[in-house]
Amino acid sequence: MAEPRAEVLVDLDAVRSNVARLAALAGPAETMVVVKADGYGHGAVPVAEAALQGGATWLGTAALSEALDLREAGISAPILCWLDPVGTDYRPAVEAGIDLSVSSVEQLRAVGDARVHLKIDTGLSRGGCPQSRWPELVRAAADSDVHAIWSHLACADEPGHPSVDAQAKRFAVAYEEALAAGLSPRRHLANSAATLTRPDLHFDMVRVGIATYGLNPVPGGEKLLPAMAFRSSVVSVKPLPAGESVSYGHSWTAAGDTWVALVPVGYADGVPRLLSNRMSVLLGGERRPVRGRVCMDQIVVECPPDTRPGDEVVLFGPGTRGEPTATEWADAIGTIDYEIVTGMYRPRVTRTYL
Ligand code: PLP
Repeated sequence: MAEPRAEVLVDLDAVRSNVARLAALAGPAETMVVVKADGYGHGAVPVAEAALQGGATWLGTAALSEALDLREAGISAPILCWLDPVGTDYRPAVEAGIDLSVSSVEQLRAVGDARVHLKIDTGLSRGGCPQSRWPELVRAAADSDVHAIWSHLACADEPGHPSVDAQAKRFAVAYEEALAAGLSPRRHLANSAATLTRPDLHFDMVRVGIATYGLNPVPGGEKLLPAMAFRSSVVSVKPLPAGESVSYGHSWTAAGDTWVALVPVGYADGVPRLLSNRMSVLLGGERRPVRGRVCMDQIVVECPPDTRPGDEVVLFGPGTRGEPTATEWADAIGTIDYEIVTGMYRPRVTRTYL
């Protein structure tokens, strides 16, 4: 069979081993692995299964549809789901035994008999119940099945940032208020960064997303194994005389006689156009520069003359062979590796599990 034109490889052993590492760090707290956005672009169901094998006991999603897909796939582990629009029919969640996040009295009514995690906004100012309305919410929840209270941190990836302690303090107050209202909830607060750097904030459970996938949100921290690699292959090779320019806009011109290889991946396949003239690929065991603009379906790589059609091109990976990493791509264009890997779910890109 022909090679796929572009392929994302997902190393599920890396997921298992990252989760085992994180679960060991978090213990005795439980580990929820966040598999929203199709498992950060890695595939929600295979990642969820690998994560549970690695020691996760919970799964987290943003959308209810994502949680229901996990149940459909036969996954019976507890799942928390936290963000759906007003008017969502929560009956399927109740039937499927999916826990729901609740941030207001109205939402508490809307979710019916679902088991709930009450969310307090401790300073991210995104979702969650404002502190001023929290006492009312915890009182209203006296007859509900409240499993936990929870919150989300704004700056945990900047260890020492004062907001982390400030949020932790507000979380402590919210917990006291929940106890005073007669609840006895579990607590969860930490994302990957806080799991790695703030053992005092592990409480009863941590919620790890990016670290599961082997990308460390805290520079220089724990060694994790990046689970995703992105590769393609050379379609054609040709000589390029000195003075010739490459790709739309002629943004690069050959200073001397050289060779170029055509690789059939572009911005429609997840290669950011902003990486034009600012990226390299692993080709023939060496880094080779991409010349000119990234197009919708293709890039042009300057290469040695012995390059052959069919040669493997590694766009990014764990970095173990010297290839770029998703983090290197992100740094080059001023974004985060979360956005790079999550953006790799593309209809034309084959996904293969190792
Ligand atoms: N908890 C919530 C509510 C989230 O939205 C996310 C992801 O953004 C996480 C936990 C996991 O965060 P991270 O990927 O930084 O570990």
